[in-house]
Amino acid sequence: MEKCPDCGAPDPVHDTHGVSYTYKDRHTTISSVAGYHCAQCGGVTLDRAAVERYDDLVAAFHRRVDDELVDPAYIAAVRRKLKLDPREADDVLGTGCGDMARYEAGRAHPHPSTVRLLKLLDRHPELLGELHG
Ligand SMILES: [Zn+2]
Repeated sequence: MEKCPDCGAPDPVHDTHGVSYTYKDRHTTISSVAGYHCAQCGGVTLDRAAVERYDDLVAAFHRRVDDELVDPAYIAAVRRKLKLDPREADDVLGTGCGDMARYEAGRAHPHPSTVRLLKLLDRHPELLGELHG
């Protein structure tokens, strides 16, 4: 590759290393990215074989950030849909005592696994019975 397609700087270096990535003000490093890295602008032109893995890692990061930033009102809406009070929801979902109330008040963030469980129960509330006892 003769020059960077982003900024036109000459001779981007072919290398494999981590690339920083930002989504909704959250930062991560995508590890071991193979491609032409531009020292001038930090841009990278991925090797064809590296594109799928990079896209998968970026998509996974988006999902994790979106789960972490879940709207407290959504959590409360799903809980009400399941006809549980916050204390019962803690019991059924396995969250700590008082956690649901804190999530709904926006005073704490649920773990992504809790958010995914809530999304599953939102789509399939009939599965709630599987979590009892
Ligand atoms: Zn560049």
